[in-house]
Amino acid sequence: MTGDDWVVRPVAGARATKVYRCPGCDHEIVAGTPHVVVWREDDVEDRRHWHTPCWRRRTPGRY
Ligand SMILES: [Zn+2]
Repeated sequence: MTGDDWVVRPVAGARATKVYRCPGCDHEIVAGTPHVVVWREDDVEDRRHWHTPCWRRRTPGRY
């Protein structure tokens, strides 16, 4: 993970109006679920929606 600068933004449940697929567990993030959206600092176009616990598991000690 060294050298990767990830921007992490929480998405409140009320704002999660679409269903996303979490790349961490390959399951859906049901609409209305608070989660996080992350992207690389140098690649704003490629945003990914993750379950908050999946993202935490992927990056111990961060966020
Ligand atoms: Zn997940």
